[in-house]
Amino acid sequence: ADKNFEYPLNPAAKDWSNYFAGKFKSQHAKVEFADVGCGYGGLLVNLSTAFPDTISLGMEIRDKVVEYVADRIDTLREKEPGKYQNIAVEKSNAMKNLPNYFEKGQLSKIFFLFPDPHFKKSNHRRRIISKQLLAEYAYVLKSGGIAYTISDVEDLHQWMDNHFSQHPLFEKLTQEELDADPVVPLVYASSEEARKVDRVNGKKMIAVFRRK
Ligand code: SAM
Repeated sequence: ADKNFEYPLNPAAKDWSNYFAGKFKSQHAKVEFADVGCGYGGLLVNLSTAFPDTISLGMEIRDKVVEYVADRIDTLREKEPGKYQNIAVEKSNAMKNLPNYFEKGQLSKIFFLFPDPHFKKSNHRRRIISKQLLAEYAYVLKSGGIAYTISDVEDLHQWMDNHFSQHPLFEKLTQEELDADPVVPLVYASSEEARKVDRVNGKKMIAVFRRK
């Protein structure tokens, strides 16, 4: 699956000129929210209007899905001029190249919504959350930045919860903090996978962590 991925040598080398629009259009646009494995982009679209002054980037590994999200954003921009200028999608392998895209402490939020479960034990190393990868996520998140995880797969939820909870650079948000966070409802309901789980009355398990 690892074909020729184009990715920047380092964050400063990335030219963002053709990603964002209007006042966000800049070679050195500063992405603050990253949706890792963004799928069809439902969260991104919601983040765009909920945080109109913040730049969000979806990262997705499947070509077809990347094309779909890019078209979706173009269509929204055409329909509602002046809106949806602060979101874009990038084809990327987020398990390998995050530090190529983002500087230390650049992100204030990172999302892992319904990641692929890789059920078999021999495939657990392919999971998007692991001890090694948490070190990278901690690196790109600023102190006080938030990592959101959600899954309908109990085993994967526990896995993500345990890894983050055990990591010295993250602390778990309390229920009161979750209740007060306006992003939590978006995490529960805005992505295509979240809606799919709703349609079968599945259970959605959330776990959210703060970068210390
Ligand atoms: N987050 C979306 C949602 O909630 O609707 C999509 C969930 S889908 C089950 C998982 C997505 O992660 C897929 O679209 C898959 O292609 C993507 N993905 C898997 N591994 C990835 C990687 N290493 N980098 C970027 N995206 C990845």
